Amino acid sequence: MTFSDKFRHLLQLDHIHRSALSQKLLQYNTWVVVFYSRTDVATVTPWLAPIVWEGTFEPTLIDTIYKQQNLTIATTVFAVGKYVRFLRDFLQTAEKHYFLGFRVHYYIFTDQPEAIPAVTLAPNRTLTPIKIPGSSRWQEITLRRMERLQEIIKNRLIFEADYIFSLDVDSKFHGHWGAESLGQLVGALHPGFYKANRQYFPYERRPQSQAYIPAGEGDYYYGGAVIGGHLEDVYRLAKTCKDQLDIDASKSIEAAWQEESHLNKYFLYNKPTKVLSPEYLWQDVQFFKPQEVKIIRFTQVIKNNAAVRPNP
Ligand code: UDP
Ligand code: MN
Repeated sequence: MTFSDKFRHLLQLDHIHRSALSQKLLQYNTWVVVFYSRTDVATVTPWLAPIVWEGTFEPTLIDTIYKQQNLTIATTVFAVGKYVRFLRDFLQTAEKHYFLGFRVHYYIFTDQPEAIPAVTLAPNRTLTPIKIPGSSRWQEITLRRMERLQEIIKNRLIFEADYIFSLDVDSKFHGHWGAESLGQLVGALHPGFYKANRQYFPYERRPQSQAYIPAGEGDYYYGGAVIGGHLEDVYRLAKTCKDQLDIDASKSIEAAWQEESHLNKYFLYNKPTKVLSPEYLWQDVQFFKPQEVKIIRFTQVIKNNAAVRPNP
């Protein structure tokens, strides 16, 4: 029996009692510390937030601990215009890999609620369509996400959930994504820049934009497809980004990567308490997989922008 098997066996998944769990933890703490580490990647930020990589955590243990808190994970997804075509794969793969055994509530913002596919959800998992208008500009759709996010958190989710993830719909899950991803404020490293020097990050570089980050500043380049955390923290993020986007709009300036640029600015001054490695935000599975990436959990689908976006 390997150490991991033994550990899993001792925890007996969901059946363990809280005090028994603490005892096991005490007993095995030293082992956990010795076995769960990586030397080939940074696993902590300079402000001591964990960077979540495969091999740095025991998924069964973390899920067991968090399940005792009886959490609800709100998951907001936008599927406007032709992007409704991504919903089936998104939902089907989420049901295989995403917060299994937890209460998950999907909120689908769409202009075509009737086009939401009937995907069988596991017990304790629900889906709510939220009708919003379509748009003739994709930039408008992505920019509006922050505004909608802020509204729904304030008006609804605060009463219905504990944590939230806002995810891009043109995505698929391929591997475990569980409670190890939970934190007060959570961002994911963009797969294209996690090894790059900050001078190459595609931050907004024009001082006229509220998303401006001067050369020589910046910690990481975060992807806009994954934002998560406690409801209050994500509310503050969404509200700030929305306000900054409005200021830019009033000056007729649109940041280089729209809300992703504003997100990066926000994270520079409001550091995430947990950072997800690019395992949680990879390009398509076909994309070259370097040695440090042991598992791909979530990918962006390769899409023909001209075919799915309302404008070029
Ligand atoms: N989106 C949408 N309809 C559109 C354009 C965008 O619903 O016509 C939403 C969708 O959730 C998508 C997200 O906005 O996942 C971000 O847009 P996109 O994926 O095109 O940006 P990228 O990931 O390519 O930067
Ligand atoms: Mn996308």
